[in-house]
Amino acid sequence: MSSSPVWHPFHQHGLGEPIPLVERAEGTTLYTADGRRVVDAISSWWVTTHGHNHPRIMKAIRAQTEKLDQLIFAGWTHEPAETLARGLVDMMPDGLGHVFFSDSGSTCVEVALKMALGTFYNRGEDKRSRILVMEHSYHGDTIGAMSIGARGVFNRAYAPLLFDVGTVPFPAAEPQPTYDALEAACAVGDVAAFIVEPLLLGAGGMLTYPPAVLAELHAICARHGVFFIADEVMTGWGRTGTLLACEQAGITPDILCLAKGLTGGSMPLAVTLASDEIYDAHYSTDRAKMFFHSSSYTANPIACAAACANLAIWREEDVPGRIVSLSAKLGSLLESLSTRDDVTNPRQCGTMIAFDVAVPDQGYLAEIGPRLRDHFYGQDVLLRPLGNTVYAMPPYCIEDADIARIADAMASGLDMLRA
Ligand SMILES: *Cc1c(COP(=O)(O)O)cnc(C)c1O
Repeated sequence: MSSSPVWHPFHQHGLGEPIPLVERAEGTTLYTADGRRVVDAISSWWVTTHGHNHPRIMKAIRAQTEKLDQLIFAGWTHEPAETLARGLVDMMPDGLGHVFFSDSGSTCVEVALKMALGTFYNRGEDKRSRILVMEHSYHGDTIGAMSIGARGVFNRAYAPLLFDVGTVPFPAAEPQPTYDALEAACAVGDVAAFIVEPLLLGAGGMLTYPPAVLAELHAICARHGVFFIADEVMTGWGRTGTLLACEQAGITPDILCLAKGLTGGSMPLAVTLASDEIYDAHYSTDRAKMFFHSSSYTANPIACAAACANLAIWREEDVPGRIVSLSAKLGSLLESLSTRDDVTNPRQCGTMIAFDVAVPDQGYLAEIGPRLRDHFYGQDVLLRPLGNTVYAMPPYCIEDADIARIADAMASGLDMLRA
């Protein structure tokens, strides 16, 4: 029995698994209280893009703490939010001119859903209220975000609270069934929006599909006047090889969700970017048509200052170059493991690599994730398999020696399972 009152997320305390205490971090390294140096191979759950405690981001946070800590954001504003919003509009695809702030990936997704429904409602088209999603998707853990995500053990107990959505199949090798399902669902006329993780489905098992498919899904929605919501909470900020995954398909969504890497992974902050069409449907002299959403810490100034520093890093440093170089190195790592007969479905999307472990005994499946996780921690590498899917997505500053440690940990982990 642990003496800590802390209740951890996605953690079964009853198993008595050790919970490492981290004292500080720098770059790709976590320093634990018991003196270990652990490679953060999953960017602290997909958020840390440029590395931990990035000097420019930490400096911006310190400077902002001298000026303004927090401010009501309903009808008031501050410089970090204004600078950040302008920076985002400049950096993101043309046509996304309006920036709404919130605090997490889940909330920026819920804001997106509310924007889509609010737009049709304000136009008197409130029959359009259905949401379409892609099979295996993950959009967060609040009630609304769970409702639009894949159903399973993660949310079975809360099913009575979840609303109904339409689901199109994941575009596997043959995408036509996905197109047909989307086309048919859109044709009914009751759909407000289709929400999708572009190119890479994260929590659903690091599943990838090509840019051409994403472009076609966007085209189908556009033909039917269905809003296209891109959830780039995980894929944004370079993870898939480009600033946004949508860029690779040459599309601009109607609504764009960004969080995780928005502050370089240093502070909780999220934004939902919207097109003129969506903003204009809420713009009126009628107060009943305003956008009804807020949380206490909307656009917290210190978090905004951290995000401004992230944008400056993207503008002034060769982040794309780092991403290209890291992608190539991860590609070779994956290739060397792919020759093993216990490695199946090797896949890469930019700076994310993944494979599935072939396990003869399917009943054993549930156990291999935690066994591998323990093994990786024994090797001082933070990797957290999703079921039998092993993946890595390190910060872009990772050094070759640490990439080699990830490769060794993966290989020895597979050997351990076979022994
Ligand atoms: C992590 C994630 C979310 C939820 O973000 P939180 O900040 O954890 O609420 C939403 N969508 C996607 C695609 C994610 O990967």
